[in-house]
Amino acid sequence: QRRPVGRVMAQVAMVMNLDKCIGCHTCSVTCKQAWTNRTGVEYVWFNNVETRPGQGYPRRYEDQETWQGGWRRTRGGRLRLRSGGRLRKLATIFANPRLPSLQDYYEPWTYDYENLMTAPLGDDMPVAEPRSLITGRPTSITWSANWDDDLGGGPDLTASDPVVQRLGDRIKLDFERTFMFYLPRICEHCLNPSCVASCPSGAMYKRAEDGIVLVDQDRCRGWRMCVTGCPYKKVYFNHKTGKAEKCTLCYPRVEVGMPTVCSETCVGRLRYLGVVLYDVDRVGAAAAVPDPRDLYESQLDVLLDPADPEVRRAAARDGIPPHWIEAAVRSPVHQLISRFRVALPLHPEYRTMPMVWYIPPLSPVVDALGETGHDGEDVGNLFGAIDTLRIPVEYLAELFTAGDPEPVTAALRRLAAMRSHMRAVNLGEPP
Ligand code: SF4
Ligand code: SF4
Repeated sequence: QRRPVGRVMAQVAMVMNLDKCIGCHTCSVTCKQAWTNRTGVEYVWFNNVETRPGQGYPRRYEDQETWQGGWRRTRGGRLRLRSGGRLRKLATIFANPRLPSLQDYYEPWTYDYENLMTAPLGDDMPVAEPRSLITGRPTSITWSANWDDDLGGGPDLTASDPVVQRLGDRIKLDFERTFMFYLPRICEHCLNPSCVASCPSGAMYKRAEDGIVLVDQDRCRGWRMCVTGCPYKKVYFNHKTGKAEKCTLCYPRVEVGMPTVCSETCVGRLRYLGVVLYDVDRVGAAAAVPDPRDLYESQLDVLLDPADPEVRRAAARDGIPPHWIEAAVRSPVHQLISRFRVALPLHPEYRTMPMVWYIPPLSPVVDALGETGHDGEDVGNLFGAIDTLRIPVEYLAELFTAGDPEPVTAALRRLAAMRSHMRAVNLGEPP
């Protein structure tokens, strides 16, 4: 028996195809130029592209219990709340201790080029010392986004990844099985956003018309509960203005029918932006299912089929404009998530109902490479050898399905079947 459709809302959502990301950071740089090229947010990347395995940005955000304190412990010592006096500052520190420090993001630096140009003649070669862009003082750089790339892979590197640590003996790490891929991340514009729930000032809000989560700069008092409250660590503190800032999903562009800057400039063309319809009455129960492994399915269950006449009637009843309903029908995002089930949510166990979904990378089958020359794109190979994919299914499952390998395996098999089919079509072979 069909369940009745509750209140329908529209949400702008994104799907990223991880097989296509080359880690070029064009998305990060163009986003930064558009949104965070200002004093106070030098360290901020609304869009970052993580090396996986790796510690992420801010480092170890998937294991936030390790953080010992907030900004007060940074060595630079100049990051002070501008809004509020000593009392609020102390209250923020004591009531809200689990904040990443500046070193957990990274300390932006430049080089002291002046020294190169003006150093007096001497026996030693002058050097361009790294200098912090925030304090202006020389800095010893100990961390930055994608530091994991420079460490060159291998077991030592992957051992510091919180996901690898959670997997323990269930994942084999040695040089023969080294793997890596890139994971671009923006704010998830969650259906159940904990940043909104945690804001004592009522400054964080989720827009009713398109689900974009924003910060009201006039109402923000700089408590930074949202920074702690967001498990994806996608709210940032502007140390110049004393206010929280975050990804806006480029709402001024979306409002006039343009894609987000990151989608438009992505070199791999891997970001699909679209509209999904969801039943807002189902969100609470779906986010609270007892077993985290059921969260992927429960999150799917919240989304509605925009081609279903009953859903369309309910959407019209609830004031969704007709062109949005049509956009949802045509949306590649809806098709990839709900119809073909090849896109998965990032860390559904955080229970915020994230709305940026990922098509997992389809890596080669390691064992088959040596013997047959076949790789993971051969569908026959994949059906027999899913356990020997270069990127372990267990690792992807920890990222996307709270540890349940079945949906990941199903998505990878579908991808392999599609590639195999398209290859046959393009080569004129029988499919
Ligand atoms: Fe809020 Fe974080 Fe979800 Fe973005 S990812 S909506 S900042 S809880
Ligand atoms: Fe990946 Fe596209 Fe960003 Fe380049 S621009 S890092 S391909 S998401």
